[in-house]
Amino acid sequence: MGCKYEVKDIKNKNYILVLTVLTLTIGFGVYVYGVEKVDNKDNTLQLASESPNIKTKYIEEIIESTKENVDLTKNKSSEVKIDWNLTLVNSENKVPDNYIVSLENIDQYRKFDSRAIDFLNKMLSDMKKDGIKDIWVQSAYRSIESQYKVFEEQVQQYMKQGKSREEAEDLTQKEINKPGYSEHNLGLAVDFNYVNNQFENTKAFVWLKKNAEKYGFILRYEKEKENITGVEYEPWHWRYVGQEHAKKINEMNMCLEEYIDFLKK
Ligand SMILES: [Zn+2]
Repeated sequence: MGCKYEVKDIKNKNYILVLTVLTLTIGFGVYVYGVEKVDNKDNTLQLASESPNIKTKYIEEIIESTKENVDLTKNKSSEVKIDWNLTLVNSENKVPDNYIVSLENIDQYRKFDSRAIDFLNKMLSDMKKDGIKDIWVQSAYRSIESQYKVFEEQVQQYMKQGKSREEAEDLTQKEINKPGYSEHNLGLAVDFNYVNNQFENTKAFVWLKKNAEKYGFILRYEKEKENITGVEYEPWHWRYVGQEHAKKINEMNMCLEEYIDFLKK
């Protein structure tokens, strides 16, 4: 009898061993497949889990690759995908309801898009390396709620001065974007330094005009595009669109509105 049990035990042990090996093999296969999928889907997202050194190296590689000339004719016929980094927000286009704001801290108070923040930080550190110390992010992400508060306060100010609600809203809209209609609500825009026109006369501005595209940033509200953007010239406001798009936008001398129209055609 004892012998019989022993045989059964050995059989059971073998069975368990085979099962364990099988489970591990399948598990490993699924893991490898998963990693590859993540890899193909979005390199930038995967970066978040990697060490800062690898991150920096990766960013440097992309910046290097965008220095080559972009052949516009090559991409024109291929299918166009309006990606998250090209999301258009202006007085007529609200932050899309399905847009997922993904944030990371720049410092204690300010936040920026987690997929683009490494490019912002690298841009600022490279600028400092080039001897320009007088640069800081004054404003970046603003929640729709905080935008609402600022907007409403201004409306109330005008109403105290005797304006009707409608008049007060119209006047306020000229100064402050309606809640949900600001690029700052996306987390993809930054305002530098004192947020005024004097920024145009700084070394930082000259540096940005020359280099920001390498990090995926564009000057969003150009003087000669006021009639298209509907926003007055803002030398302090820079928008992340990604290196490839930033370079093309500058090459073609377009604003984001024009560029998106161009992509859709
Ligand atoms: Zn701004």
